[in-house]
Formats: sequence, structure tokens, C-alpha cells
Amino acid sequence: MNKKTEQDIMEKLVSLCKQRGFIFPSSEIYGGLQGFWDFGPLGVELKNNIKKSWWKRFVQMRSDVVGLDSTIITNPTVWEKSGHIGGFSDKLVECKKCHHRFKADDFTSNAKCPDCKGEFTGERNFNTMFKTFVGPVENSSTTAYLRPETAQNIFVNFDTVRAAMRTKIPFGIAQIGKSFRNEITPGNFIFRSREFEQMELEYFVNPKEDKKWFEEWVNQSMQWFIDLGIDKNNLRKYEQKGKELAHYAKETIDIEYNFPFSSHGACPPVLWHGRRGSASGGDKGFAELMGISNRTDHDLKAHGFTYKDEVTKEEFIPYVIEPSVGVERAALAFLLDAYTEIEGGRTTTTDSNKEKEVVLKLHKDLAPYKVAILPLSKKENLTELALEIYDSLKSKHMVMYDQVASIGRRYRRQDEIGTPYCVTVDFDSLEDKAVTVRDRDTMEQERISIAELAKYINKKLES
Ligand SMILES: [Zn+2]
Repeated sequence: MNKKTEQDIMEKLVSLCKQRGFIFPSSEIYGGLQGFWDFGPLGVELKNNIKKSWWKRFVQMRSDVVGLDSTIITNPTVWEKSGHIGGFSDKLVECKKCHHRFKADDFTSNAKCPDCKGEFTGERNFNTMFKTFVGPVENSSTTAYLRPETAQNIFVNFDTVRAAMRTKIPFGIAQIGKSFRNEITPGNFIFRSREFEQMELEYFVNPKEDKKWFEEWVNQSMQWFIDLGIDKNNLRKYEQKGKELAHYAKETIDIEYNFPFSSHGACPPVLWHGRRGSASGGDKGFAELMGISNRTDHDLKAHGFTYKDEVTKEEFIPYVIEPSVGVERAALAFLLDAYTEIEGGRTTTTDSNKEKEVVLKLHKDLAPYKVAILPLSKKENLTELALEIYDSLKSKHMVMYDQVASIGRRYRRQDEIGTPYCVTVDFDSLEDKAVTVRDRDTMEQERISIAELAKYINKKLES
């Protein structure tokens, strides 16, 4: 196994993602748009699988969490009350290198970043919300915003959801959806984009129990990444300190991933959304993958909610523990962690011998395609049987049918996109009514009877 060389692994991954249909620049034929990315046929499957896994773990499997799907555009009062509109009209400059932001007043025009000596962007009002207008008239009374976080929509629905579901504290409301931030310096592929999806959970607790639940959600979040195959050694916790904390947060722990790029430093407290993907302490690599915050009663108080415990008659404003993660950033971490290069190749077929091979060792729950059906030749009796097998599996799993190119090349193509199992239909299959199932990671091959194949595959994918 070749060790992942830090500098070029991103380039290789970006190239693979484009060639194989995972991710490419939005509106690329017109030059693209910085900070916007499209997810192709494989990328959409990966993203959906990430969301499905998160939803299953944190909504479906829990009796104390319910879901929500709210709008991107809301009454702008939401953003006034939350502090997103008023509090952020400061004139700021941002370091192009470490993304620290500073009050423009404190610096002359040729000043360099005090933290990393990087150059500053020009001075401007750094409100990163995208503006739009509702209805035909464009003026201040029709101005609305694309949400910069899904959290506020959860807070404003607190009472409605609670009444409808008769939930009692502690309980959570989860939401997956698009958010928009007009980042001054988007970058590092899909690490920091201007349009992205968030998976956020607002967990409402009695303020007396905030510490316990905060720790619980840090551990649960960490475990989710590990269970989906991320190497533990590439993860660490980082506790935000002092001015790194967003103004609403009593405590925030970032789960950091060992990304192959440098993004260090922290944002000053004028920002309402915390460190936004900076990493701690100047360590190369480790950068924020997700954050778990104790938002206290900041938001429910701002929107005027309170809560009464029916049993104890105690009345209080609940504290909120918020695990929040971007789908795209999670996808990047999963892809990087899965990306494996094997020098000299591992197959023995002539055309692929000694070539470098790429295997995307994605967790089977995340792999875009679970099974590929590969007839050994294009002869009609073989393709007919192969298509029958394809039809028998496709209602349950994402299955790819591929009859083009040599079998070695087709295996490698599936390895590159992370397909866990390849099913080869050969001439013996016509006689023994069996096929060969090849495992992506071990390359072990097993002969399985066609009648048993669906059961075999289901068992493999569910284990
Ligand atoms: Zn800097």
C-alpha cells in the first residue's frame, strides 16, 4: 500500500470524482461558480446514503427525536430575532490564508494577518446571508434571506412540533436540508462551499442536565463516523476556547478530521457560526468535520419560548445541545478515508498487471452501487442470464450492469467507485447455475448458486 501523499491526494480525488461522476463544478460549461458543486450520478447516491444513515441512527432508531423539513426562505424576522441580521454588519477583513476575521478598524490597508502573516481581503460588511426578494417588488420590506443554518427553523417550530408529537424534555428535532452562506473564501473542493446541506439536531434539555447531554451527543456523533468506517486515528476532538466560541455557545467541541490540507486558526467571536471549518492550533491537516454546541437557551429565549414540566410544574427555558454536520464535508472525509492506492496493482490479468490501482474502500452502507453484474462475454446467452440476475436484485439495491471492456478493467472500474461486490456470469454459469461473487477489499471469490444469490447479497450488505 502506498502512503497517501498529502499534496496530491486532493488533486487525485477531485479528478476521480469528476471522471467517475461523483462531483463536479456547478455550471461548468460557463466557467462554473466558485463555491458551488454538482453531485453526479454516483455523488447523489453517496450523499443520499450519508443522509439515510444519519437519519436512521438519530431519528428512526430513537424514540426521543422527531424529524422536520422546513423552508429555506422564512419570514425575515426569524433572522432578526436570532441575531443574524443586526449583529453582523461590522466592517471586517478576512485573512485569505487562515480565514481569521478581524475588525477592519484595527488594521491599515497593507496590514498582514497577525496570526499567519497572510493577506487580507478588502474591507466589507461581512453578513454572509444571501438576500432575495419575495414577490414582484424589490425593496426593503420584501427582502428575505436564504437560511444560513437549518437550526433556526427548528427553534421557531418548537411549540408546534412539541404539541403535535406530545414530546417531553429531553427530546430532539432533526432536520436535513440546504443552507447558504456567502463565504468570502470558499475552497478546498467541497470542504467549504456557498450552498451546502446540513444535518442538524437540536436536542432540548433541562438546563441542569446540559453537561450530561452535551457529552452524550459528542460521543454519539463520533461513533457515527467510526461505525461508517472512518479510521479512528484520523479523528480527534477539539474543544473551542474563549473567542473561538460563537456568541451563543457555552461549550463547543469540534470533531476534527485529518484532512490533507492546512486550514488552521479560529474565527473571532463576531461570527455567529463559530469557526466554520478552521482547525486548531496550527496543526497541518486536522480541521473541523462537525461541531457539537451547547447553545444554551439563547435561541428559544430569542424567539420567546418557554417550557413547563407537567410533573414537577417547573417552568424554564430549555437548553439546546446541537450536533451539526455538513453532508458535503462528511462526504469529503468519507471519500478521503476510503481512497486507497495500490502500487503495482493487485490483479493478475494481463492488461492491468503492474499498473497502479485505486480502490475506494467506502463502507458498504455508503457505497453508491452495492453490486455490479458483469457477464464474462457479450455473447447473448450470457448477457441474457446476466440481465435476469440484474433484474432480480435491482428492486432491493443499487445495482450496475456492465458488459463493456475486459473483466479485469471492469473489476478495477468498480473498485474505483467503491462497489463492494462484483457478480461475474461466465460460461459455466449456464451449466452449473452459479456465479462468482468477488469481494472488493479481499478480492476473494466465491461461487454462489443463482437461486441463493439474492439472499447471499442481502446478508452480506446487512451484516
Ligand atoms: Zn491568517
